[in-house]
Amino acid sequence: MGVSEFKIEEFLKQHNIKPSYQRMKIYNYLIKYKSHPTVDEIYQALVDEIPTLSKTTVYNTLKLFLDNKIIQLITIEENETRYDADISIHGHFKCLECGRVYDVWLDMTKMKLKGLDEFRINESHVYFKGTCSKCLIKHKN
Ligand SMILES: [Zn+2]
Ligand SMILES: [Zn+2]
Repeated sequence: MGVSEFKIEEFLKQHNIKPSYQRMKIYNYLIKYKSHPTVDEIYQALVDEIPTLSKTTVYNTLKLFLDNKIIQLITIEENETRYDADISIHGHFKCLECGRVYDVWLDMTKMKLKGLDEFRINESHVYFKGTCSKCLIKHKN
């Protein structure tokens, strides 16, 4: 990992997270693949490289990252929690055929919200579901 390893270590420290090897690996996975993985997917991807890893460790690490606001939760489906290291404001599209979750860019300055004038927003989630362009192409062939 070289330079990026150092950057992740510094980044975690800045957010009051002790940069253990496993934590660094998990954060690196999230920023490298941007695939909005589940706990299971992260565990499967890293367990060969880190044989001491457990699903509980992955879960607890993600919870720690969430508590320190360096990742966000994506719950498009009630029974499927995914994680995203991109904490900028963006929406998500889930393809119901291949299951992939795509980022959707939002122009918040052009969003018209009604009925929230006196409210304070702590979180916002914009989700879409449907069929992605790759799956649509498959249908044509
Ligand atoms: Zn698809
Ligand atoms: Zn995302």
